[in-house]
Amino acid sequence: MNLIDKKLFLFDIDGTISLGENFLPGGKEILNFIKEKNKRYIFVTNNSTKSTQDYIKKFKRMGLETEEYNFVTAASIAIKYMQKYNGKKIFVIGTESFINELLNNNINVTQKYQNDVACVLVGFDNELTYKKIEIACHLLYKTNIDFVATNPDLACPTEFGFVPDCGAICQMITSAVKKTPVFLGKPERFILDTCIEITGCKKEDIIIIGDRLYTDILFGKNNCVDTAAVLTGETNITEINNSIYKPDFVFKTVYEMFNKMI
Ligand SMILES: [Mg+2]
Repeated sequence: MNLIDKKLFLFDIDGTISLGENFLPGGKEILNFIKEKNKRYIFVTNNSTKSTQDYIKKFKRMGLETEEYNFVTAASIAIKYMQKYNGKKIFVIGTESFINELLNNNINVTQKYQNDVACVLVGFDNELTYKKIEIACHLLYKTNIDFVATNPDLACPTEFGFVPDCGAICQMITSAVKKTPVFLGKPERFILDTCIEITGCKKEDIIIIGDRLYTDILFGKNNCVDTAAVLTGETNITEINNSIYKPDFVFKTVYEMFNKMI
């Protein structure tokens, strides 16, 4: 399989293309190259702290023009999934940006304990308070309530190291109420189906590029899509050698991948 034959590139963002407001080596070059060759890229991110518009603005500040169709985020997936509740109340643990995106899409969000809540939805929340955790636990003691989370990631890379991600917030709740959520983001199928729906690409035309074995690489393995791991984020060669999730390609950076394509 040749990289250049791929038509759709699904990139993780944090630890793969960029860290904070900086591109990792080759990030901008590979995206521009894909566009020049009339191929497509979609950022597939489990990070629900930012909306699609936040990401478009962030990349603009970094000197890259992107469009809405370049993103399938944990937030956009959550919106799609929450539509099945047909206006019933959803208690959300998430950032203001995440909550606003849900509200803008007519999801009936509440941030209070209420008797008629149908689902507790957890996203990566860097505005988390103990009160939010307490309300979620209180609600989840009921039997007729769903527990859904945007992504299973335990830690999110930052410029200085890692901070607890959505999976870790869920573990706090799970350790108290003994219930586990349904996860929506990578490595689950729901997010890939959305990308296929948007682009009309076949699985064999797609490659997933990411820095994490148990989300990005497993996402490909679970769904029979080729994968490339980069070493600019969470994973490293030792972990890859010891893991059952073997990527089809390993690159030090996306710059190395870009060099293999030109
Ligand atoms: Mg990542």
